[in-house]
Amino acid sequence: MRILTRVDEVRRALADDRAKGRSIGFVPTMGYFHAGHLSLMRAARETCDIVVVSIFVNPTQFAPDEDFGSYPRDVARDKRMAEEVGVDYVFTPTVEEMYRPRHATYVEVEGPVTGVLCAAGRPGHFRGVATVVAKLFNIVEPDKAFFGQKDAQQAIVIRRMVEDLDMPVEVVVCPIVREADGLAMSSRNVYLSEKERQAALVLVETLKAAEEMIGRGERDAGAVKSAIERLIRAEPLACLEYASVCDTIHLDDVQEMKGEVLIAVAARFGKARLIDNTIIRLKAED
Ligand code: AMP
Repeated sequence: MRILTRVDEVRRALADDRAKGRSIGFVPTMGYFHAGHLSLMRAARETCDIVVVSIFVNPTQFAPDEDFGSYPRDVARDKRMAEEVGVDYVFTPTVEEMYRPRHATYVEVEGPVTGVLCAAGRPGHFRGVATVVAKLFNIVEPDKAFFGQKDAQQAIVIRRMVEDLDMPVEVVVCPIVREADGLAMSSRNVYLSEKERQAALVLVETLKAAEEMIGRGERDAGAVKSAIERLIRAEPLACLEYASVCDTIHLDDVQEMKGEVLIAVAARFGKARLIDNTIIRLKAED
């Protein structure tokens, strides 16, 4: 496994692989790996000849009052974990390498996909995400890029950008990887105290309760959303940010549950802001 830190190094290394006809799979990350990240690398390993992973805590997707400075980092451990799953290249640029002096170009995905859910509480976040992913795609030029369903809205924004800007990359979205008790894995889980860690289970439990309601025949999206809000608000250590029952492409609110529906939640537990979601697929006869 090779560690690359400069844009020109990545281009040179991958030009050689591309010339040999090798397909390139790319996993963009902010590091501090857990099994969720590794699942994306394994998916890339299974379907592509070359696997490239980037580790870059991207300052432009953090608001000034967010945790850019304190975001957990352990690149030495990340490198060991990446090597174990058979990654070929790890790209760890500095902030200065990615944003050179006088950087002035940003990618703005417009519309509801960047106006609702996480966007409401994190203004500018998806502009930063789209910009850095567009840059990384231009640097790596992957055939396939792997993202986690854990960040459902991020995956939708990236798909929109790729389609709108005719980027020649296939976006692959992989399932949410959870701890044994159901908590969605997240680098930010390290912020949780023991009590908050226990309280955070309310997210997955609430999503399960919503699935059960729908399983019993509930089709009123408003009723499902209210039930979710009530359950999360009942947890004293949770500060609910949003609960949404929406479609999986435009993130528009739905009234009646039918077809494919995304149920997404976000809440704060102490200084950790956590998100989780589930996709409900209803057949016409359901
Ligand atoms: P991050 O380092 O948090 O920016 O995440 C890098 C990639 O890993 C993103 O595509 C995330 O959606 C994905 N990811 C993070 N947590 C999980 C998880 N629990 N299961 C699956 N994918 C995840």
